Amino acid sequence: MFKKKAIISACLLGEVCRYDGKTKEVNAVIEAFVEYQIIPFCPEAPLFGTPRERISVLIIGDVKHIITDESSKDVTALLREEIEAFCEVYSNADAIVLKSKSPSCGFGTTPLLDAKREVIGFGNGIAADIFLERYPQIKIEDETVF
Ligand code: SF4
Repeated sequence: MFKKKAIISACLLGEVCRYDGKTKEVNAVIEAFVEYQIIPFCPEAPLFGTPRERISVLIIGDVKHIITDESSKDVTALLREEIEAFCEVYSNADAIVLKSKSPSCGFGTTPLLDAKREVIGFGNGIAADIFLERYPQIKIEDETVF
């Protein structure tokens, strides 16, 4: 039988893919989509491994950059490529649930830092920005609404 599809941040599903080597499983999310075909999404773990150096969103010259916290490496292009490749493979879905506050997955909740790493606001992670463009018809939610 045809099932609806839900793209969900993999750490919310119990995958051990967070930067700190942990998961962030949220049962309410898993239960809400029990009838769906689940498409786990995590752009960071395949690129950087788990555990890995933490990354942050920095606003430099009005442009978002994703930069590693200790080695100060700009990984924006790498992440963009990974996320866009995912969107090519999974071009259709019926729901999207992303992990709040993440530099990749956060939707309106991710700390935005200036060049001195002071928090200057909150916004989207890079995946949420790309998903808004790629899946304009799908409402993006995070785990906090479940
Ligand atoms: S928040 Fe996103 S990038 Fe970070 S571990 Fe979860 S799925 Fe991966």
